[in-house]
Amino acid sequence: IDEVRQHRCADPNLTWGFVPTMGYLHAGHLSLVQLSLAGNEKTAVSIYVNPTQFAPTEDLSAYPRNLAGDLAMLEAAGVDLVFTPGDAIMYPPGFQTTVSLSQVTQPLEGSSRPTHFAGVATVVAKLFNIVQPTRAYFGQKDAQQTIVLRQMVRDLNFNLEMVIGPTGREPDGLALSSRNALLSAENRAAAPVVYRALSAAKAAYDAGERSGEALRQIMREVITAVPQARIDYVSAADPRTLQELDVVAEGVLLSTAVFFGKTRLIDNILIEATEGKEQKENKEKNLGSSGFRGV
Ligand code: AMP
Repeated sequence: IDEVRQHRCADPNLTWGFVPTMGYLHAGHLSLVQLSLAGNEKTAVSIYVNPTQFAPTEDLSAYPRNLAGDLAMLEAAGVDLVFTPGDAIMYPPGFQTTVSLSQVTQPLEGSSRPTHFAGVATVVAKLFNIVQPTRAYFGQKDAQQTIVLRQMVRDLNFNLEMVIGPTGREPDGLALSSRNALLSAENRAAAPVVYRALSAAKAAYDAGERSGEALRQIMREVITAVPQARIDYVSAADPRTLQELDVVAEGVLLSTAVFFGKTRLIDNILIEATEGKEQKENKEKNLGSSGFRGV
């Protein structure tokens, strides 16, 4: 931590971009790294599989790791600093603070993983304090995480800009994820159903469907047709509050979590509001057509 701070403070005038990760890096992570490299004078990446965001029943010990490969990729990309702390550095004996949010953490991922976002918010708050970035980069792939962390940044007055990068996908539509490495060949072949289901709901929305339940039912039907897939949830929710919608009026976050064997995959498509004042405000916040947005 001291070493990171020394690098960060060597020239306080430089802008630093920061990409927090759990490693086993793929092209989705690297797209965030590229955004950071393009938008800042220096770029830091962290690689830390944070135990507090995994429940005891989850896949912490099975989570894929490849530190040497990750470091080679980041060095080749031109990253300036990689922070790879161990648990004793992040959670020394006597550690007792938790950052928890009361509302946006409750539905969706929070209802399936009740302790997950307190772990995420706590570790990201620590990483922000250690790295003190000018801008922090997160993927739309983890839609609720972006909403939770934006809220934390607002509530705790972190002096940084949040930038959200688009979801990187395999050619068959499967969202890139470190967890894809845990899929059997059979489940890997079945997994593109997740994005097919989201795309079918989006196509229905584009054709005029505005019933939240109808959109959820479309996703259910597409996913249940694949025997390897077991639905955890399907959702058509308000993109700000994450409450399930009866009627879509101003944008919708279509999202789902699906088990393939023991591996749980999540994905989403965000449809932003297209009319009125909201749309204007959203447009003003857009950084262009590249698909990422500042806070
Ligand atoms: P993780 O290592 O899974 O914790 O992810 C680190 C960061 O990369 C998070 O901000 C994720 O949202 C982001 N990320 C993960 N997968 C993708 C993807 N397929 N496309 C874009 N960003 C991603």
